[in-house]
Amino acid sequence: MRRLFFLAVLALLPAACGRKLPFDAREREIITRSDSVMYVAVVSDPSDSLRLRTPGRDFSDEELCSEYFTTLAAKMLATVQSPRQGGVGIAAPQVGLSRRLVAVQRLDLPGEPFVIYPSIRILQHLGDTVRGEEGCLSIPGKRGLVPRSEGVVISWTDPQTLQTLTEELHGFTAIIFQHETDHLDGVLYTDRADSVWTDQAWIDERLPYAQAGDYDKPGWIDGPGYCSDSGTSPGKGRISGQPLAISAGVARLNWEKRAR
Ligand code: ZN
Repeated sequence: MRRLFFLAVLALLPAACGRKLPFDAREREIITRSDSVMYVAVVSDPSDSLRLRTPGRDFSDEELCSEYFTTLAAKMLATVQSPRQGGVGIAAPQVGLSRRLVAVQRLDLPGEPFVIYPSIRILQHLGDTVRGEEGCLSIPGKRGLVPRSEGVVISWTDPQTLQTLTEELHGFTAIIFQHETDHLDGVLYTDRADSVWTDQAWIDERLPYAQAGDYDKPGWIDGPGYCSDSGTSPGKGRISGQPLAISAGVARLNWEKRAR
């Protein structure tokens, strides 16, 4: 009898352990793909666009402590800094994960490091509305003039201590945070832009990377999302475009020029 009970417990173990695994199977597949630089979803692709319009959800403490999270953070950092992208920020929905995670270049800190912010939210908008040029890794070859708050207060979960932290940010750094956290709500800068235009210089600069042929779209992105009832209509503000992004230096200079 005791042996039977032991066998029954063993039979239940896989299911119980499965439920405890951090992230779901599709997410784990995306994170553990061998590529260190991840595929970036683009609005011109219908299934990518749907993914970009799906709001992200927070991480559990178990997920933040897992190797999957460490790997995801490392790969997002490698992706945004890759020569093909050369961006100043990236959000998890852009790499196919409907999660509240952004990697942002802190141009306001010494050394201008890229930093990751899990479960991030904007708590407060501060100051006047300012208008600056923005581009997006998911809207290649385009730029737009976008009104934003001059400052923000953000909160996020420190992945080391699991404590909730807050910080007040201003200037171009605050603009980047607004752009990236918008992604987590399924919002793109083209939804807010006064005008959008083709950035030929950017296309000329990035075309060699786009033609390198080592950047095919994997099959993961067509899988089911977490919350399809986003409240943001898929396709709103969508524009067609060729794959591309912005260079950190150019974006910063453009914004500073307009902010003066
Ligand atoms: Zn973007």
